[in-house]
Amino acid sequence: MSQQNAVPETWDVEADVVVVGFGAAGMAAAVTAHELGAKVVILEKAPEGEEGGNTRVAGQGYLNTSSVDSAIAYLTALCGPFTVPEVMVRVWAEEMCLNNDWLASLGGDPQEHQHPPVGIEFPDLPGADCVHKFHDGPTYGYSYTWKLFERLVKERPIPILYETPGRALIQNDVTKEILGVRAQQGGKTITVKARRGVVLTCGGFENNQEMIRNYLPGIPYCYTSGSPYNEGDGITMAMTVGADLWHMNNYAGPSMALKVPEIPTSFSMQAFHYSKELPGGAIVVGPDGRRFADEKFKTRHGKVPVNGRWLPLSTPCPMFMILDHTHFSAGPLYDKHPSHGWTQIVVKYDWSEDNSAELAKGWIRKADSIEALAGVVGLDPATLKDTVARWNQACATKHDEQFGRTLMLNPVANGPFYAIELSPSMLNTQGGPRRNERAQIVRPDGSPIPRLYSAGELGSIYSYLYQGTGNIGECLAFGRISGRNAAAEAVWG
Ligand SMILES: Cc1cc2nc3c(=O)[nH]c(=O)nc-3n(C[C@H](O)[C@H](O)[C@H](O)COP(=O)(O)OP(=O)(O)OC[C@H]3O[C@@H](n4cnc5c(N)ncnc54)[C@H](O)[C@@H]3O)c2cc1C
Repeated sequence: MSQQNAVPETWDVEADVVVVGFGAAGMAAAVTAHELGAKVVILEKAPEGEEGGNTRVAGQGYLNTSSVDSAIAYLTALCGPFTVPEVMVRVWAEEMCLNNDWLASLGGDPQEHQHPPVGIEFPDLPGADCVHKFHDGPTYGYSYTWKLFERLVKERPIPILYETPGRALIQNDVTKEILGVRAQQGGKTITVKARRGVVLTCGGFENNQEMIRNYLPGIPYCYTSGSPYNEGDGITMAMTVGADLWHMNNYAGPSMALKVPEIPTSFSMQAFHYSKELPGGAIVVGPDGRRFADEKFKTRHGKVPVNGRWLPLSTPCPMFMILDHTHFSAGPLYDKHPSHGWTQIVVKYDWSEDNSAELAKGWIRKADSIEALAGVVGLDPATLKDTVARWNQACATKHDEQFGRTLMLNPVANGPFYAIELSPSMLNTQGGPRRNERAQIVRPDGSPIPRLYSAGELGSIYSYLYQGTGNIGECLAFGRISGRNAAAEAVWG
């Protein structure tokens, strides 16, 4: 046995259940285990104030399905050809109906989203009528639901160890049971004993470029609009003790966003939001200087229809948004409204009203003609000129014969002209260690790794299509299942 894996003789911290990661899933696991009498500790990688992961900056909606049978039908249809075991679908469906009751029993005040549309992402699929989206607080967004989750943990005697990332699981060499976690704290390694079990709830691999390149389909890189602390640590920890992985190629993305080196998360560009008032008509081109999509198509969390199937939006990198001075001078090109997104809520980047500061920083490039602009960003001038001419013709005839765009058919005609490099961006990954219906992490042969559980987007159930609010809904559902089962383990040693 190597020193690194050796079971320590003394432990720095002890609890019955050790929860790794404090987002929605960590909250649900920790509170559930605590309510069952277990002593719980949470390890959190971020400093205090930046905990909460993607949950903190999400749209704050969570799914509460209205019927088990419809939920089974809908999730089965969402999985399509990427099937998930029936037993998992059933458990998901049964538990997702209980989210509101559980939160209300703890003092939450579930509110159904009011604004139309209700937000059924795939209304034509069987069982779609089960979709009901809720939030806590006056409206969705603005971290309101997260504030409830945070309060539910903080009003209980559940210590949260901030800036203490879990680094490795401590496993009994013979029985393969998980006995605790090696974590990092203040430059030192500490050992955290889990007398009953460990629950991994440390999110996805949104900010791990190596994993993105290896696991996500067709993109060389991708940036997150969520927590930069989600670096796939749970995947590495679980694989090291023998876990299988699932759904690694599925993610809530891509969209197209600006990413700059100074800031760890992406900028959602206003130009992608349809506006009757905005006179602009930005187009996006790939490295060949050609458009490749209807820029205004409302993807289903990054997926677009292709030949009767849904595939991730094609994002040939590097991509460039091309716009003219009419669009540029119409207002800020970045959507800085602080309802959701890490850049908006945590970084709080204050984009200039007239885009001048970002132009000065070189985030936006400018030239007097389309050919000169092409030269500035390394595109072929003749091709870009032709692309813009075709687009302007489509605007004149109100018919985009290439991609069928119908929104904001406004020409790119009034110089000077501007280009912004865009990158693939995402909300969250779905893949991670495979779990079973008891929220145990399993090996490739399906057998559970003793005393090891998971919940949330670290190995979520979503294998293909995704229904908005399904992630936080699943965090609550499998958070409760994992907390219950970890708390019920017999104490070892
Ligand atoms: C902008 C945006 C909008 C979204 N809107 C919605 C929505 O409205 N509804 C919905 O259902 N989903 C939404 N999603 C997706 C959803 O937010 C996430 O899938 C969900 O919140 C994940 O919860 P989680 O608890 O699994 O992980 P997270 O909430 O990401 O929490 C993981 C935690 O683990 C910590 N951590 C990471 N590594 C370690 C480590 N090694 N040790 C200890 N701690 C660690 C992180 O710091 C973080 O605090 C959105 C996502 C984004 C980015």
